Amino acid sequence: MKADWIIENLNLATMDAGRPGAYGAVHDAALAVADGKIAWLGARSELPAIEAAEMVDGRNGWLTPGLVDCHTHLVYAGDRAGEFDQRCRGLSYEEIARAGGGIQRTVAATRAASEAELLRGAEARLERLRREGVTCVEIKSGYGLELDAELRMLRVARALGERCPVTVRTTLLAAHAVPPEYAARPDDYITLVCEQILPAALDDGLVDAVDVFCEHIAFSPSQCERVFETATRAGLRVKAHAEQLSYQGAARLAARYAALSADHLEYLPESDIALLCEHGVVAVLLPGAWYFLRETRLPPVAAMRAAALPMAVATDLNPGSSPMASLLLAMNQACVLFGLCPEEALAGATRNAARALGLQHAKGVLRPGCDADLVLWDIDHPAELSYAVNLNRPAAVWQEGVHVRFA
Ligand SMILES: [Zn+2]
Repeated sequence: MKADWIIENLNLATMDAGRPGAYGAVHDAALAVADGKIAWLGARSELPAIEAAEMVDGRNGWLTPGLVDCHTHLVYAGDRAGEFDQRCRGLSYEEIARAGGGIQRTVAATRAASEAELLRGAEARLERLRREGVTCVEIKSGYGLELDAELRMLRVARALGERCPVTVRTTLLAAHAVPPEYAARPDDYITLVCEQILPAALDDGLVDAVDVFCEHIAFSPSQCERVFETATRAGLRVKAHAEQLSYQGAARLAARYAALSADHLEYLPESDIALLCEHGVVAVLLPGAWYFLRETRLPPVAAMRAAALPMAVATDLNPGSSPMASLLLAMNQACVLFGLCPEEALAGATRNAARALGLQHAKGVLRPGCDADLVLWDIDHPAELSYAVNLNRPAAVWQEGVHVRFA
């Protein structure tokens, strides 16, 4: 057996649900990498005779799968700090929106930005995530809300995946908000999404999945269903921003279309959980938005846990409701605010996040045959990753077996 390199003198948090014990841990372990994949892992005492070009010292740390941020809106222009200031002074979201603020401000700035400008801003935000050990990220469109600008956002997302050592999955979220020119006729905008934007994105190879924002301030379940129907007929998997601010029945709709994930879920009734389980839909929890919007209604985490519904955790990185480029902070918030335990939070940012992107066979676990997306941490226990805020940085990151170097 041959390997490109072997790391030893460390512990593994494999996050492999097929392994017994917390974190699927292997103590005093070794792991071999060949051709960008994990070739072997196990106790160091059982390491077979492998011819390796390089040996790496794990310095008694912990190796986890590369982190997966499965819900971001990190391509955008402008910022909303001015609105934040207004909100802190007591202005309501409605007052801000009436004055031209809110999502429409980001849409206007994004439409006006060149591809190069969008790329520059997004690359800087992505680097923040990567420096914390993120090796795979989902990026949504949804601030263009017209054909050209939506495609531009998706091209930037694809370009990020080519320029940076990170796997990028793109999601078309043209049904994010009703654009101003369609203010009184949202159904006509949905027609534009289904008949022009989605087919064009598909033709250009820019879209891996399709998302909708099902909410009273965005689109109704029947409008979202038209998008799901079009996407499904085109062979694309779907996702939904569901039950964030009110109960719309969006998670049930997502289940009917065997969605990859239903995201937010603060208003999900416990009675809908079984349906998500049945159709393999991952519950993506986004505590950053909950925190930033000072929400009070909690997602039904205890019932999700009892039903063994897979829970993922993501940043929701966006300028309006979650300006937060830290998946480790989202893990901490998931524990403190939503009641996850640290092992669930780490599973949420690895195994279950990969599943929310349809990548469960390649990413999110340490297992032979999976991509060698790896993060080495100088910690005594993996719970530290969810426990501490801004105290943990990777000692080393590998993406598909290649050591990632930061400037
Ligand atoms: Zn979102």
